[in-house]
Amino acid sequence: MPKVLIAGGGLAGLSAAAALGSAGHEIDLFEARPFLGGRATSYAIPAVEGDTETIDNCQHILLRCCVNLLDFYERLGARGHIRFYREFYFIEPGGRISVLRRGRLPAPFHFTGSFLSLSFLDRHDKAAIARAMLALRRERTRRKDLDRISMLDWLLQKRQTPRAIDRFWRQVLVSAISEDLDRMAAAHGFQVFWLGFLARADSYEMGVPAVPLGELYSTEAWKRWPKVRFHFRAPVEAIDGAGFVVDGERLAGDFHIVALPFERLEPLGLPAPPLEHSPITGVHLWFDREITTLPHATLLDRTMQWMFNKSGGRYLQLVVSASRDLTNLPRNEIVDIAVGDLRLFFPRVREANLVKAHVVKEQRAVFSAAPETESLRPGPKTAFPNVFLAGDWTRTGWPATMEGAVRSGYIAAQAVTHAAGDPKTFLLDSY
Ligand SMILES: Cc1cc2nc3c(=O)[nH]c(=O)nc-3n(C[C@H](O)[C@H](O)[C@H](O)COP(=O)(O)OP(=O)(O)OC[C@H]3O[C@@H](n4cnc5c(N)ncnc54)[C@H](O)[C@@H]3O)c2cc1C
Repeated sequence: MPKVLIAGGGLAGLSAAAALGSAGHEIDLFEARPFLGGRATSYAIPAVEGDTETIDNCQHILLRCCVNLLDFYERLGARGHIRFYREFYFIEPGGRISVLRRGRLPAPFHFTGSFLSLSFLDRHDKAAIARAMLALRRERTRRKDLDRISMLDWLLQKRQTPRAIDRFWRQVLVSAISEDLDRMAAAHGFQVFWLGFLARADSYEMGVPAVPLGELYSTEAWKRWPKVRFHFRAPVEAIDGAGFVVDGERLAGDFHIVALPFERLEPLGLPAPPLEHSPITGVHLWFDREITTLPHATLLDRTMQWMFNKSGGRYLQLVVSASRDLTNLPRNEIVDIAVGDLRLFFPRVREANLVKAHVVKEQRAVFSAAPETESLRPGPKTAFPNVFLAGDWTRTGWPATMEGAVRSGYIAAQAVTHAAGDPKTFLLDSY
């Protein structure tokens, strides 16, 4: 069996290692940090009582249509740690809650009942959205300019009302793609609604890890493939057709997979595509009492976009995607905005004391899925026949997501098996 060296222990590198490891390959994976998971990981911070506690760098969620990510969790025996929810809660300032959930009708009509009952949209908004959904189904495979126009361009073409845009399309898509509607290629918005909302009745169900992200890929899980070895605090310093340089030493495999963020490629000697970043900000808040019993909710009309109930309604995690407006604000101001927003949605915040707060600003969270970006994303092949690329920014057909990263890892792993003359398929088709 050929020996494969992998640079990067994020989901792209790990999924390539799991696929090739289960096919019997010998793998050496080099990760710069002392833990696995890359951007989808957790770490310890000081706890209230002076101890430490583990938090995710930011809440990560998935949908049931993330079939490759779920396959990867299955390979690691971690699939059971993902808890799926059938309800999406939308809250208006003032606290009124609307619930989107599937009913008895088959796809694509499964949301009809709950959609009609949403109180934050009026009948003109709903009629406009219904028309746009029908157009989306029709135009999905026919229109050729969906990567060239923005999602906002398309929504305006479909004469969506301002409230439908702000409270429905923006609310769902900015978090799913981590980019604003006017900066997001329509192709990505189409994919989210097609795969997540229309293609199958259960595909919208939201998966939330019930353990810290890092536990999903704990090194114990890898013992089933003893030929997969991890090297921590081992940054790869250079890459070419002769292999990797690590700690000044040249290391060669039969094949090499580079599963690093795109901005890391050029300093290591590989060309990088001219992609841009979009930031995400996570705000962790600990209160002295229960604020809400909802497991999660999307927050309308304010800066904070999502709330996740991490523990007993007292520890809440808030997320702002495409958070450029927060980039230059000091952390204490971001906490003030978060608490101010929460007061509007959850009256109990007014009586509660904030015990602790932690803000994570990820300026390079994801690549910006802008119009005209798809053609810039490379496939797995490089100028070197034994070096392959992976990473959420490579051409996976998905925006920067955990599913996109795993798809890239499986695609790179397939490319290795093809080059080795023993082709295997790891990638599962989305429906
Ligand atoms: C705040 C935030 C929230 C997000 N929320 C979601 C969400 O809810 N749902 C979702 O699906 N996705 C979400 N994402 C996106 C998701 O985290 C990423 O798409 C995915 O984790 C990318 O995986 P990757 O393996 O491609 O890259 P990375 O995770 O960046 O992995 C690259 C790895 O390479 C390592 N490395 C770097 N340089 C070197 C070197 N020279 N040598 C060796 N190793 C090196 C890094 O330490 C890292 O571990 C979010 C991202 C962020 C930042």
